[in-house]
Amino acid sequence: MKYVVVIADGIADGPVDALGGLTPLESLHLPHFDALAGGYLGRVRTVPEGLPPGSDTAILSIFGNDPRRCYTGRSPLEAAGSGVTLSPGEISFRVNMTSLEGTDFAHARILSHNGGGVEGEDMDALTAALAADAGVAAAAQALGLTLHPTRSFRHVGVIEAGKAPPDAAYRLAEPHNILGQPIAPHLPQGAGAEELRAYMAASYAALRDHPLNRARAARGLPGANCLWPWGAGRATQLADFYDKYGKRAVAISAVPLVWGIAALAGMPAPRVPGATGGLDTDYAAKLAAALAALAAGADIAFLHIEAPDECAHAGDVAGKCEALRRIDARVLAPLLNALPHIDPDFRILLLSDHPTLLSTRGHDGAPVPYCIYESRRPAPPRKFSEAEASKEPLLEEGSELLALLFA
Ligand SMILES: [Zn+2]
Repeated sequence: MKYVVVIADGIADGPVDALGGLTPLESLHLPHFDALAGGYLGRVRTVPEGLPPGSDTAILSIFGNDPRRCYTGRSPLEAAGSGVTLSPGEISFRVNMTSLEGTDFAHARILSHNGGGVEGEDMDALTAALAADAGVAAAAQALGLTLHPTRSFRHVGVIEAGKAPPDAAYRLAEPHNILGQPIAPHLPQGAGAEELRAYMAASYAALRDHPLNRARAARGLPGANCLWPWGAGRATQLADFYDKYGKRAVAISAVPLVWGIAALAGMPAPRVPGATGGLDTDYAAKLAAALAALAAGADIAFLHIEAPDECAHAGDVAGKCEALRRIDARVLAPLLNALPHIDPDFRILLLSDHPTLLSTRGHDGAPVPYCIYESRRPAPPRKFSEAEASKEPLLEEGSELLALLFA
């Protein structure tokens, strides 16, 4: 028996005015979502009540972990996925390259949580400028912070042991949840927060008038101009996936968070060329990587697609709908065709990790629809949607989903 878990990030949603009050899932014809939902459709709480709704808490659950026990913050998971190993007492942060607008930091507004999509060589140029800036260096030294830059907007910051507040008790806003707002009420609070604010301000001073950002401004694009730390936490440990389930697993994703959860659970997460985490990602290449791992002996492949979540954060209704169409046509359809050639006995679990609401451009902690399809039990299609799933029982513990899939 082979198993595939398709995590379509943030596909669940609420009513959208531009879609006549329907959700994207309700408004679209997605025949392969519906084919899978013909197996078993239900609702699951992936984010335990009281924990922040995000891909970190939700995907920990989906991989079989109870986030109430193992969640210490988002960043330690991502740091593991970026090859940054934390020593005892150190605290790591996710550090976004964001886009601010305004002549002075204190009165700026946040336009984008991902620096308007700047990446690759352009991001290299910006992080090199930060590394060369005396003001940024002084602020980093005051914090005891080392920045581990990446080529995307997702960087990792680590505060050395002894310099961080004892329980990492910062209050840090998640930049994707405050888009369009003035930053002042959302700046870091709590012990040690003043130094963090100074570091952010120094990065804005260093990057606001960088030639690359001036060129973007001339084209009407937001600058990639301010570091935003969030998701602080200490190192965490997860149970080894094989020890727990007796199944060899592989994870295919474009994002460090999923690589890190996989690494901590002892499963490979091969990097797939062309996997971007955006709408333009190479869906076929990601699917091919999952199928190749299954053909080579893996029992279960986790296939994570970030695009719908990113589109929802951008408030891009058409983009989110297009991401759903592409998942249907470029992932689910060829998956259903290819799996029988690897093993006629297979099950597919398809779900959203958490809702990402186009109306707020932020995450939501409500239960999400999921479905389990089994190759030996074909059934008539059923609409895969929030409303259909709400007619079904709620599975309260997302960390029990895998046991259900394997049962
Ligand atoms: Zn998200």
